[in-house]
Amino acid sequence: MIIGIDLGTTNSLVSAWRDGAAVLIPNALGDFLTPSVVSLDRNGEMLVGAAARERLVSHPQRSAAVFKRLMGTSRTVTLGDRSFRAEELSSFVLRALKADAEAFLGQSVEEAVITVPAYFNDAQRKATKVAGEMAGLRVERVLNEPTAAALAYGLHERQAGREGKILVFDLGGGTFDVSVIDLFEGVMEVRATAGDNFLGGEDFDAAIISWFAQSTGLEQLAAEDVAAEDGSLQARLRRAAEQARRALDASDSTVMELEVAGQSAKAVLDARTFARITEPLLDRLRRPVARALSDSRIRSEDLAHVVLAGGATRMPAVRKLATTLFGRFPLHSIDPDRVVALGAAVQAGLKMRDGALDDVVLTDVAPYTLGIEVVESLGGAGVSAGRLLPIIERNTVVPVSRKQTVTPMQDFQKQVNVRIFQGESRLVKDNIPLGTLELKLQPRKREEQSIEIRFTYDINGLLQVSAKSLIDGVAEQIIIEQHAGLLTQEEIAERMAALAHLRLPDRESAQSRLLIARAERAYEESLGAHREQLGAGIALLEAALHDEDRTRTAMLCEQLEALIEMIEGSRIQ
Ligand code: AMP
Repeated sequence: MIIGIDLGTTNSLVSAWRDGAAVLIPNALGDFLTPSVVSLDRNGEMLVGAAARERLVSHPQRSAAVFKRLMGTSRTVTLGDRSFRAEELSSFVLRALKADAEAFLGQSVEEAVITVPAYFNDAQRKATKVAGEMAGLRVERVLNEPTAAALAYGLHERQAGREGKILVFDLGGGTFDVSVIDLFEGVMEVRATAGDNFLGGEDFDAAIISWFAQSTGLEQLAAEDVAAEDGSLQARLRRAAEQARRALDASDSTVMELEVAGQSAKAVLDARTFARITEPLLDRLRRPVARALSDSRIRSEDLAHVVLAGGATRMPAVRKLATTLFGRFPLHSIDPDRVVALGAAVQAGLKMRDGALDDVVLTDVAPYTLGIEVVESLGGAGVSAGRLLPIIERNTVVPVSRKQTVTPMQDFQKQVNVRIFQGESRLVKDNIPLGTLELKLQPRKREEQSIEIRFTYDINGLLQVSAKSLIDGVAEQIIIEQHAGLLTQEEIAERMAALAHLRLPDRESAQSRLLIARAERAYEESLGAHREQLGAGIALLEAALHDEDRTRTAMLCEQLEALIEMIEGSRIQ
């Protein structure tokens, strides 16, 4: 069985293709959305999801969120006294989703289709595959998120008997992707994709946080008071900002209030202010749309539909912008939070060659240009170094293999270093370096040498580069691996061994672990008598859990939940 996974910046979902349809799989709490948050508790258990998200406030030093943004880099996050790379943190989320799928499907699961933003580069895609491997999942396919959304919509539209060109506008927690897709007779052809890897709901939250800090004078608070709050203040601010942003979905204004260092910080956020402070972000949504349309040579008027994906497209400001950009109301007939996961399940069904999908064909494109660094001769005016020679241009249909012939720069060179880049800029310094390939040569005059560079880009968005001297016949090949952000196979094995003893809590205890985490957060946010009540409730529940007394656990859970609700309800909104 192959499962589909939408490994999101904010939330993750797991799905499967079952009985001729895509189904979403609930987690141990019965929810389809599992927050992409992890938290290490003192017993060496790694909490994943809603409980971990609560602990961002109560245990900021032991919890992490938004780590998808670090994928493909060597940066680490410290939880307690251990540090983790993004692929390790993601592997815990994947482990939890795998366990949910196994419980739901009643069978063990070893294979998955995982979605990534179309704009994820080679290192980020590799890191995603490694995260899967660390979680005990063979990643059968790394699928572009907007392509997954298109698959889900494509099937939906086909069932409704509709065809034509559609544009998927996918704004998630951390990334923005646009794809133009042509649907005809079961063929779903991605014509172009464009996007921004660093633009999503989280950035709108960050804009609210800076506005709030400015308008409440939080910035002026004594540095030591803020420092004393450390990560907890950040987590509380983020939580409050997200709440405020969501509140604006349905109302014109909302109050944001936070206790900081014993003082109350309070400000009213209305839709106009929100529009003003997020204008630069909204503006950044326009360019990828224009680029996807122009690359696919499709005019906005020729689109049959514009469809929304990603939770952040729920923001009225974003919907309004999409409506203005395209001169029509976008579709959101599939829940934007779920559409990518549903598409991943369709891809899993295609992989398993399910009969219901016999006539579905999907073609995808390379989202960015790939090339090498060259020095260009300017005739009598010397040379221009550091230029990008594109080998595979963006929005070429994948899989694709392209070659170019180059000559060494100097006479009698013993070696050439082929530097590989991704990006659209003319100069390599403005593009993303992917790796270097070294090719040994027989020393010859430069005009007597000829080197063939071949780029092969597969359906997973992974690149392989080879170089060969057409004169000497020597060849060298790399699957881009020398990137500093990537782990070697030995390092992966070492890290997996080190992670092996970190377990996820039992699925049965999910509800009580979430309650304890919520109570701890509420404790953090309360004072006086409420704290005492919460503290006592937590201690009793922990004792009952420890004694494995189910009846008592259930009763104490109910009591604690009622207490939290009473305390949270009594706070001024
Ligand atoms: P995704 O990565 O698709 O799960 O999208 C998550 C992003 O969508 C987060 O930034 C959420 O804050 C945002 N989001 C989810 N629901 C809403 C909502 N009702 N209103 C505004 N933003 C939302």
